[in-house]
Amino acid sequence: MNYDDNNIFAKILNGKIPCNKIYEDNFVLSFYDINPQKKIHALVIPKGKYIDLDDFSLNASPEEMVGLIKGINKVAKKLNVSTDLGRGYRVLSNISDHGGQEVPHLHFHLFGGEKIGRMVE
Ligand code: AMP
Repeated sequence: MNYDDNNIFAKILNGKIPCNKIYEDNFVLSFYDINPQKKIHALVIPKGKYIDLDDFSLNASPEEMVGLIKGINKVAKKLNVSTDLGRGYRVLSNISDHGGQEVPHLHFHLFGGEKIGRMVE
């Protein structure tokens, strides 16, 4: 499967459609999910064109990998849910068909602001 340049997160990254931005640096963009499932529901996406975590693991540079992991922590801090500032959070990434992925650009959901509950249905 090739990366689809017309996916919704690609359009957010290139400014064609707006987002409710939380954080941005050279490696990641973070914005609020349009259909929040918890009190806090953010998305963290790499700026590079990666379909999912498998694609990222195989093809991203070490700098991009560090940037993404650190980016998640920066977003958690900004939202006051990191372990030093708040009470924690959950990070989740859906991968392909069985994972339930809808948007084919790698993204991490960040849930917080309340107890998140059961890990899976
Ligand atoms: P997934 O099922 O893991 O691919 O999740 C895709 C997520 O993207 C869902 O939680 C959607 O609510 C969210 N989403 C779709 N379009 C937008 C958008 N334009 N802005 C913010 N979040 C979006």
